[in-house]
Amino acid sequence: MRLSIVVPCYNEEAVIELFDVRIRETLSALSVDYELCYVDDGSSDNTLERLRALAENREASTRYVSFSRNFGKEAGILAGLRETTGDAVVVMDADLQHPPELIGRMIELHRAGHDQVIARRTREGDKKVRSAVSRMYYRMINKWVDVELTDGVGDFRLLSRRAVDALLEMPEYNRFSKGLFSWIGFDTVTFDYRNAAREAGETKWRFGALVNYGMDGLISFNNRPLRVAIYAGLALSAVAAAYAVTVTVMAMIQGPDAPGYVTLLVAIVGLGGIQMLMLGLIGEYIGRIYYETKRRPHFLVKETNAPRAFGVSEQS
Ligand code: UDP
Ligand code: MG
Repeated sequence: MRLSIVVPCYNEEAVIELFDVRIRETLSALSVDYELCYVDDGSSDNTLERLRALAENREASTRYVSFSRNFGKEAGILAGLRETTGDAVVVMDADLQHPPELIGRMIELHRAGHDQVIARRTREGDKKVRSAVSRMYYRMINKWVDVELTDGVGDFRLLSRRAVDALLEMPEYNRFSKGLFSWIGFDTVTFDYRNAAREAGETKWRFGALVNYGMDGLISFNNRPLRVAIYAGLALSAVAAAYAVTVTVMAMIQGPDAPGYVTLLVAIVGLGGIQMLMLGLIGEYIGRIYYETKRRPHFLVKETNAPRAFGVSEQS
């Protein structure tokens, strides 16, 4: 079996060499035929230089692709998947938070016939607030979206060749990979591992980025929120109609009634707020359509050590 490893790297100069040593130790011990594919996601530090050096020392088993700017981890994974030719592909982070030792277990499970082998991390050592928010988010989102998303399940997984091919067939510009992985289906198995701290360098996830990511998850996989907009609109119209009738009848009985300023204000502000929210929601979908229709590439490659050679197998 030939195994490909895809590693998206963004400003990972502090840890990339350590990662390379550790992963090679592990893979040699497993005696599998492997290739490593590093994707430099437009790093502003010396990640690219380090990758060049690694590729020079290790020859055929190392490929790297470097982007013209930061396109995001999802684009990095896509580039790596396109580049790989292995019978199975493992996607993992460069910071050693995804323990290389687990690859042995993944291969075993893959050999037992699973197309996707997912390593799910526990939330040990995470900030309490962050894990609580995550749990809530996943509970909510699974009611809404059409694909199954699980807390702790990230991109660390092994994919069979046909699963990779399925992913590569999905052309969408907005790539929420947790959702895409789940959407393709196939025989999937999950096992847990203890969360590990980053070996060096720092996380690229800021609070705002997490919120945006959460929004992507909600919107990328269905249009149920639009349905809710319609129902909310209907419910509010019904309330408004009932209120209008009441007010009219009262005015007819008692004559017009000047106070009512509070009711008016509350109604205007309340409805205004809901309208803004729903408009924003619709705008979000339209924005996505706009981006999708441009058909821009997901990333631009600045430099790579191996020209794309589909179907040409590489000796390692
Ligand atoms: N990453 C990337 N592009 C980005 C942000 C992150 O390729 O724009 C890579 C990063 O180098 C790492 C992985 O994605 O290998 C996970 O990032 P990080 O460790 O910052 O995320 P966390 O583990 O904190 O969720
Ligand atoms: Mg990390």
